Amino acid sequence: MNCQHCGSPLPTKRRRDRIYCRRSCSALASYYRRKNGQPLPPRWQHPALTASDPLVRSAALHAQQLGQTHGWSPSTTNCVLDGLITVLDGRSADERVPLSEVRTRPHRWVSRPRLAEVLADLELLEDDSIMAVRSWIDRVTSDLAPGFADPTRRWLLVLLDGDARARPRSPSTIYVYVGSARPFLEDWATRYDHLREVTRSDIVAGLGPLRGSVRANATKALRSLFRLAKKRGLIFTNPTIGLKAGPVDFVLLPMSDMEIDAVEQLAAAPAERVIIARAAENAARTGTIRHLTLDEVDLANRRIILGGRRQRLGDLSYRALRLWLDHRRVTWPHTSNPHVLVSEKTVHGASPVSQRFVVLRMSRAGCSVDRIRKDRILHEALTAGPDPLHLSLVFGVSHNTAARYATVAEHLLSDELEQSPEQ
Ligand SMILES: [Zn+2]
Repeated sequence: MNCQHCGSPLPTKRRRDRIYCRRSCSALASYYRRKNGQPLPPRWQHPALTASDPLVRSAALHAQQLGQTHGWSPSTTNCVLDGLITVLDGRSADERVPLSEVRTRPHRWVSRPRLAEVLADLELLEDDSIMAVRSWIDRVTSDLAPGFADPTRRWLLVLLDGDARARPRSPSTIYVYVGSARPFLEDWATRYDHLREVTRSDIVAGLGPLRGSVRANATKALRSLFRLAKKRGLIFTNPTIGLKAGPVDFVLLPMSDMEIDAVEQLAAAPAERVIIARAAENAARTGTIRHLTLDEVDLANRRIILGGRRQRLGDLSYRALRLWLDHRRVTWPHTSNPHVLVSEKTVHGASPVSQRFVVLRMSRAGCSVDRIRKDRILHEALTAGPDPLHLSLVFGVSHNTAARYATVAEHLLSDELEQSPEQ
């Protein structure tokens, strides 16, 4: 396309509504327009809005309206119109667009969810994602030996569609399950003809070298596979009965009395007290503690903002912060550093104290913020109940992490039950 004033070619990478090559051309063009009394050039319109194909035109109009209603930015709307041209071009009016094409065909700036939203609104979208997972299941199981392929395929299809007693699982869960179970299935297929020949010792041997969430996922996947195979009569006995999701995660065990004593000894200095109090009361991470600013602390109302969430300030933290802020005011009365924790190095600037500042102080007592933090979350899981949702709400941890704590707490509580004399 060329400049509408001087005719020289416009740069390839440019705003789509640009018609002049440089500012002077635009200024000159409007000068001559006014001088000759000519009307303004028509406003740039996305080609989809004036497309010859009525389907593209009506869809583009609908997208524009949807964009205005939902406050899309002009560039988002324009990219969605691009996407409409790409997926609707050459399609008949009643032909639906597969979701897999919406995901793959338009250029990378097109918002897929928005484009899918417009098409769904016009009933022009066909959700073939399930189909995509289904064909993926066929592909991954086709590599397995027949005696393993059939039960595995049936298992995955039940996970995908659900059945009378099981709800459908998300594609991502199915991917994780297949990723965890496949090495076992491929290994067993080299020794056996059918899944029913797999014994418990095979499973235990296979799980042996695995640790943490890899082991937990593999155990869950195998338990689900064998449970369904047994339910469907594909195997005679279920070798995973009573198999636990994974050994106790040692890093998540409660702090020993010795560790707690050491930390209390340490909490002599005001800065250390603040660090420990934050970790011990709100399970704050080192980064959150370092970046805590004065205006996030509301001592008067005993409130604190952590990771963007307003929380109650516990007694330990309240006392530690009061002590520290007094010390800070007396030691560095003129500092303008906004952070609660400051050091000789940072008082003259605005940066937070370094990671090293925290680690050095904690390591003196052979402890770490992370250790205290994990102890705090586990303590909560043990006392308030191993409920992942509660843990993730209170401490702002991901659901997976909360689930890990809950699993360990369940283990510890059930061990306690087993050991309790009155049983
Ligand atoms: Zn020009």
